[in-house]
Amino acid sequence: MKFKSITGTRDVLPEEQPYWRLIENKIYQITSLFGYQRVDPPIFEETALFVRGVGETTDIVEKEMYTFKDKSDNSLTLRPEFTAGVIRLYLQNGMHMLTKPVKVFSIGPIFRYERPQAGRFRQHTQFNVEAFGEKDAAIDFEVMSIAWHLYAELGFKGLRFQLNSTGCPVCRPQYIEKLQNHYRKHIHLICQDCKRRLQRNALRLLDCKVPDCQPVIQSAPVISEHLCQDCESHFAKLCHYLDLMERPYTINHKLVRGLDYYTKTVFEVWAQGIGAQNAMCGGGRYDGLIELLGGDPTPGIGFGSGIERIILVMKEQGLTPPPLEVPKIIIAHMGEAAKEMAINLTHQLRNARIPVQLSFGDRSLKSQLREANRLGMDHVIIIAEQEVADQTATIKRLSDGVQEAVPQNKIIAFFSDRVVAQS
Ligand SMILES: [Zn+2]
Ligand SMILES: [Zn+2]
Repeated sequence: MKFKSITGTRDVLPEEQPYWRLIENKIYQITSLFGYQRVDPPIFEETALFVRGVGETTDIVEKEMYTFKDKSDNSLTLRPEFTAGVIRLYLQNGMHMLTKPVKVFSIGPIFRYERPQAGRFRQHTQFNVEAFGEKDAAIDFEVMSIAWHLYAELGFKGLRFQLNSTGCPVCRPQYIEKLQNHYRKHIHLICQDCKRRLQRNALRLLDCKVPDCQPVIQSAPVISEHLCQDCESHFAKLCHYLDLMERPYTINHKLVRGLDYYTKTVFEVWAQGIGAQNAMCGGGRYDGLIELLGGDPTPGIGFGSGIERIILVMKEQGLTPPPLEVPKIIIAHMGEAAKEMAINLTHQLRNARIPVQLSFGDRSLKSQLREANRLGMDHVIIIAEQEVADQTATIKRLSDGVQEAVPQNKIIAFFSDRVVAQS
């Protein structure tokens, strides 16, 4: 019997790890620069949390969740996104009593039963940022800047924000009515999904990718012209901060999130070389969500960014991470006494943070040297009968074959000038 990984999942092999290390390091540097602390909610939660927090009428809840009963008959769901679980964590652990804004981030897998396609996986890893308790547009700018910094520091070219305001419960209903009227006039033109959206989730009409629906979207009223005073001034301030800091952005009327608790800002970051469906990250404000999940009315804003997508676009843009450290020293040995010394020396070098490999088995020195060459080592430390007797080791530099005998108690000093372990 041969086992295979599940459709839509993938194995991350050593060759790809430099990307992961680089991105994770950048995430730690940037979140600490911005003052965001890491939180880790569990991978699964009560199903009801996601139904409520993500929204009953969303594709995620309707079609994409991994929901199962445990042996006590509780309905549990593998998290399909971070925000609901992070809010649950924030409320349950009294973090809502802290000085606001409370600024947190998470990294970890999320699970969605999606149709497998390039860069989309049923398990993927997400970098997620949330800021709770602040309604100032300056924090919208800050949260957006975290995403921006990450991509800019990774070297992405052609970065640009896509930006919209999705209004609020005060101004959105009137807009939705106008939108529905517009669509009713064109009902014969639109797709089946849009006919359904028209009743249940009208804002998502603007999201439709079906070609027939595009002219109807183009001629639809735009929400930014129907904002209330509060939403309009919030949006104007955010645009002003973006202008001030010279961050390129496009106001994209099609950028919407269909649920009532999403308010005001909605944004994505696009990078050169990927299309509309392939945004680097998506996020926005959700000033009604914390209350919906049982907290006091509290504004919130956040975004999620898939790491696999970042890597895909890095590869498309030819951005190469620095290689990870591999040991460039191997210890070869001949005879049992030499082998024991080699084991001891390996231990000492590793304690001194000098990366080193030990040769295994009891092969000839010649075959051990061949292996060292094959592995691309810089140095071989040779311990054989003579070295055991002298308490020395022969250090051979493979590039030019130069070798010297070094007392065993000087070996760490010999290498510590030459080799520094990565942190
Ligand atoms: Zn409003
Ligand atoms: Zn449609």
